[in-house]
Amino acid sequence: MSGLVVENLRIEIAAGGASNPRVLKPVDGVSFEIGANECVALLGESGCGKSLTALALMRLLPDGGRVASGSVRLAEEDLFALTEAEMGEVRGGRLAMIFQEPQTSLNPVMTVAEQIDEALMAHRGLTGAAATEESLRLLESVGLGADKLDAYPFQLSGGQRQRALIAMMLAGEPEVLIADEPTTALDVTVQAQILRLLKDLQQQRGMSLLLITHDLDVAHDMADRVAVMYAGQIVEWASSDALYAAPRHPYTQKLFAVLPRLDRRGERLDSLPGRVPGPDTLFVGCRFADRCPVAFERCRVETPAFHEAAPGHFARCHLADSADESTSRRVRHAHQITPNGAHGAPYAAPLAVVLEVRDLAVHFPIRKGLLKRTIGHAKAVDGVSLQVAAGETLALVGESGCGKTTLARAILRLIEPTAGRVSLLGEPLAGLRGEALRRKRAEMQIVFQDPFSSLNPRMKVGEILAEGMAALLSLSAAAQRERVADLLNQVGLPADAVGRYPHEFSGGQRQRIAIARALAVEPKLLILDEPTSALDVSVQAQILNLLADLQQQHGLAYLFITHNLSVVSYLAHRVAVMQGGKIVEQGEAETLLTRPENAYTRLLLDSAPGRGVGS
Ligand code: SF4
Repeated sequence: MSGLVVENLRIEIAAGGASNPRVLKPVDGVSFEIGANECVALLGESGCGKSLTALALMRLLPDGGRVASGSVRLAEEDLFALTEAEMGEVRGGRLAMIFQEPQTSLNPVMTVAEQIDEALMAHRGLTGAAATEESLRLLESVGLGADKLDAYPFQLSGGQRQRALIAMMLAGEPEVLIADEPTTALDVTVQAQILRLLKDLQQQRGMSLLLITHDLDVAHDMADRVAVMYAGQIVEWASSDALYAAPRHPYTQKLFAVLPRLDRRGERLDSLPGRVPGPDTLFVGCRFADRCPVAFERCRVETPAFHEAAPGHFARCHLADSADESTSRRVRHAHQITPNGAHGAPYAAPLAVVLEVRDLAVHFPIRKGLLKRTIGHAKAVDGVSLQVAAGETLALVGESGCGKTTLARAILRLIEPTAGRVSLLGEPLAGLRGEALRRKRAEMQIVFQDPFSSLNPRMKVGEILAEGMAALLSLSAAAQRERVADLLNQVGLPADAVGRYPHEFSGGQRQRIAIARALAVEPKLLILDEPTSALDVSVQAQILNLLADLQQQHGLAYLFITHNLSVVSYLAHRVAVMQGGKIVEQGEAETLLTRPENAYTRLLLDSAPGRGVGS
């Protein structure tokens, strides 16, 4: 067949050095196929082996990594049997790959035209006028004008760079294009455009597309068939429609159950405890058994085979073994994996106004010339008014560069506003200085997207939590210790975390530490700046549940900055949409998300994955 067939792929990585040599098995027996003119999504959370699988297909494994066994056939040609020179011709030619961050694949000192010409020359022997004509045609096919031919990568936006890279990859007329998280770094409207483009190109060219993604909605929009990966293996393989209608593997079912959505508002999100086992784990039985809510005795001792649960729908689970009568009762139970139930109480009705922002403006001078004369102002924040009450979550939504983060910094008085007023619990911040400002600031804390860079790596968790407390709360040493223990308990961390360093924790646990640190000084307002966007969906669910619990317990006001509309629809009471430094629409979450009035809000909602790019 044309397309790509991967059989029993095993990757090993040498680790541990001479003193403690170990062999990691991050990909362990992966098989799938992609037909001509078909899109297959390799779906999974971080660390499941999907990107390494893609790199192995390109024969681009990192140092120390090797293909231990298996085969990859591109239109019947065994890629692992080719010499490196032969593979060099295939790579970027018949088999091409684009990455999450196009910047890393584009040469910064070559123009777009030079890079496309290079590919045309290497794979199709085109030069001169023929190459220029083809470059223009390729640029046009990815939606870029001729004016971008002489542009360097740094002169392009993120979306334009991804388009330029796609044009470069198309230059070799690939039969198979691998796209590894191609839109993860892009804004939602640009993401929708790039996905649409990939889908159109795949269909027009009859190309095979292997899409690597962690995003269930993106996979659904794009793929004809989906392979779900877990701990180095494919655990479910089915048509996109069948998988999304009725996932068969308990892991896939959990992935769906942890997703925040509008219809789950007020409910506690389901959670998936534990972590994906590492590539050095020696498995006995099912790899998912420790986290599986329906595991039974057989799962611990016998490795499940890849059973065909329905025609063309496979799951690596004993429950999909239709030959085993004893599993039928468990199958019925497993298909009823549901959320954990509601939060303790419905969202509390908003109380007193905690944060009030009136006509806030932050203008940055634009300077030019030798004397750096001010020739104008960039209006990063331009007349923003909003308020957040106790027990309420206001989501601030917008794309990069819209002014969200500048607004947050101005609220915290980390930058001076040009105009306008910020009041916290009725007290204006403008006149405060020194100790008075410091104390007021303690009432509003911020939690960032990347907890690791915001936690001091040389301080133990106990010290991190006690630091702000010591400065702002007059507590005895014993009371401080008690409060640290209480904070750890509140955010669901073990008591022994006190004596450990941030690097000893997973990403989700580090975000819990950052939240505990923010809570340590008894704030009234938390500014949450994309707090879950670096986390896998299962960990995201845990953090969203935690934030909802803490809000109920403490009546906290949240200003939740995010681009993720699923998260917004799940937890926000009200939403403010920001564009070009202004709030263009603000209102109750359900009304705004279902009946937006502003054209930009509609565009954001229509661009969100799950709205059917591929339909
Ligand atoms: Fe869960 Fe057992 Fe199926 Fe593994 S084999 S997914 S542990 S039910």
